Amino acid sequence: MVPQPDGVSATGDGSRPEARTSPSGAQAPPTFAVKVDVDTYEGLVEGAPRLLELLARHGVRATWFVAMGPDRTGRAVLRVFRQRGFLAKMLRSGAPRLYSLRTMLRGTLLPAVPIAAGAPDRLREIAAAGHEIGVHGYDHVYWHDHLRGLAEDAVREEVGRACRLFEQILGARPVAFAAPGWQCTRASLQAIDERGFRYRSDTRGTRPYRPRADGYLSSVPELPTTLPTLDEVLGREGRSAEELTDFYLRRIPLDRLTVHTVHTEVEGGPCLAHLDRLLARVRERLPVRPLGEVADLLPAADRLPICEVEFGRLPGRGGEVACQVDASGVAGLDPGRREPLAAACLP
Ligand SMILES: [Zn+2]
Repeated sequence: MVPQPDGVSATGDGSRPEARTSPSGAQAPPTFAVKVDVDTYEGLVEGAPRLLELLARHGVRATWFVAMGPDRTGRAVLRVFRQRGFLAKMLRSGAPRLYSLRTMLRGTLLPAVPIAAGAPDRLREIAAAGHEIGVHGYDHVYWHDHLRGLAEDAVREEVGRACRLFEQILGARPVAFAAPGWQCTRASLQAIDERGFRYRSDTRGTRPYRPRADGYLSSVPELPTTLPTLDEVLGREGRSAEELTDFYLRRIPLDRLTVHTVHTEVEGGPCLAHLDRLLARVRERLPVRPLGEVADLLPAADRLPICEVEFGRLPGRGGEVACQVDASGVAGLDPGRREPLAAACLP
């Protein structure tokens, strides 16, 4: 593959590559996309500027998803008592080092602070730097912990509050949604469809598709996260920085879309150098584009493969996440077996 470093900084000059279509249906062009999740106030205030500088240095435009409501990260600590695997993940990834004590107490011993409304200029700064911004729900911890039990109206309300705040701050309607904690249900598919989002990134999977949950088929294309996140791999894969970079490079195919989710609290914090190294190597191999440009290159929704969304477990992550199930077997996913299904979400 010819290195295409220039593709990284394409800013809508019309020189877009041709979308490729697989024999069996729609396929996204070979691209690396950086999805930046902003889950906390400190992530937005302290981590985002570091990531902005890094991305500018690489000439990379990313897609940022901001949790618009309160930072109640401290509530997540209560998951230790509820979810299998969460404590192990916290200890293995060194969460106390990745997330400051202040962040870990938000919403419990320390009062919750508003994330987007607490730093609205930072959102405008991200947009002014040429990045895309989408909605990462309203109350991240609430969505993550309770979505599966929420009725349609309650989900609609969470999405609506986030959208109204987004519009107030940025003066435009959001076009992209990413589900907090990869929690996605029939009710959330519906709520996001009703709001007229252009694309979503709610699940873990292998390729763009039309998601279906509990018999409801969404009309909004889903661009799933295809790589494991850094907090899932830390302490499990690779002992040295170089081994960690190689672990990721081995999982980035040259013939299709890769969506990599990073966090302002992790890659914008103590793991900044890792993303720096990874982007340098990726840019030698693939164009890097924001998700909106990838969505533009996709065929019409009715030509995308339809895949079920099911909850499963991923190596290194506590609790269950929504995963793409490929009924054709292309991705080797087996809808009848939940654990292997989740593991198979990793390419
Ligand atoms: Zn998140």
